[in-house]
Amino acid sequence: MTGKNATEVIAADAAGIARAATILAGGGLVAVPTETVYGLAARADSPEAVARIYAAKGRPDFNPLIVHVRDVEQAQRYAQLSGVALDVAGGEWPGPLTLVLPLRADAGLAPAVSAGLPTVALRCPAHPVMRHLLEQVDFPLAAPSANSSGFISPTRPEHVLASLDGRIEMVLDGGPCAAGVESTIIAIREDGSWDELRPGPVDVETLRARYGGARNKIGGETPAGSIEARIESPGQLASHYAPGKPVRLGALDAEAGEFLIGFGDVAGDCTLSAAGELDEAAARLYDCLHLAAASEHSRIAVAPVPERGIGKAINDRLRRAAA
Ligand code: AMP
Ligand code: MG
Repeated sequence: MTGKNATEVIAADAAGIARAATILAGGGLVAVPTETVYGLAARADSPEAVARIYAAKGRPDFNPLIVHVRDVEQAQRYAQLSGVALDVAGGEWPGPLTLVLPLRADAGLAPAVSAGLPTVALRCPAHPVMRHLLEQVDFPLAAPSANSSGFISPTRPEHVLASLDGRIEMVLDGGPCAAGVESTIIAIREDGSWDELRPGPVDVETLRARYGGARNKIGGETPAGSIEARIESPGQLASHYAPGKPVRLGALDAEAGEFLIGFGDVAGDCTLSAAGELDEAAARLYDCLHLAAASEHSRIAVAPVPERGIGKAINDRLRRAAA
């Protein structure tokens, strides 16, 4: 497909999933619901299919993709899972947790998937549609978020179309995504230490307590925009998830010309959670940012969100949207 044909939006029933599997087998691109955001899937074992993901998103080629698998056993074909990694995968998958692990020499993945790194990012998603799809195909699915590079992530089919209409074959419509922010990413090093590369729905401190993951020398967050962040996790680049308008954080009121995104007592043009619940706020974050981006207001203001639990992931995305 070369950019002019319309993208089909198909209900994610058995027939729709079967059609998606056929398109993917032929090297096509399908946006698929997951429990975090919609992913832009292609077969991860095909250099041509993977190249189409980068082209459709305008994604820089140094930004590697997450490979989605149906279970731990399939993950072991692509990465070395030893010791603590096996415990974490066995205990937390399926779920919104991505593990960056040593890439196996015989993985058979398209080299561009891992952008030339000696590691690969693997995730086993929990969403029933994505799980059903992974059961129907005999290859792994590379799937970054289904938006053009640097733009707001999609949690609804219409968000996918906002930047990828005509650039991909199909969107599988599974309704809105439940978690609403991208998966937590941790790198598990060969010495057993962990780096938190991206905060997300799974709390890393809880994982450390549960599995005994050691802190690495860097400690917590890799500085955004640093060489390490650039090579390892461009989701950490200072500017990302950008709505294309100035964003002011910590706002208690709208100033002239601002679209206000509210939280708790701060009622906005769109409110993340009037009850002040962080899970609800995460689920609504990108929806509100899409509404703000599409509104007539020239600027966006966002109410303060508490920095605890999934609030850390919300604030991480908001800081990058504002940068
Ligand atoms: P997205 O494109 O929104 O799905 O985000 C995928 C994230 O996973 C990006 O931040 C990537 O940089 C990160 N990622 C994928 N593979 C690796 C890897 N081998 N090492 C570190 N980060 C990775
Ligand atoms: Mg993304």
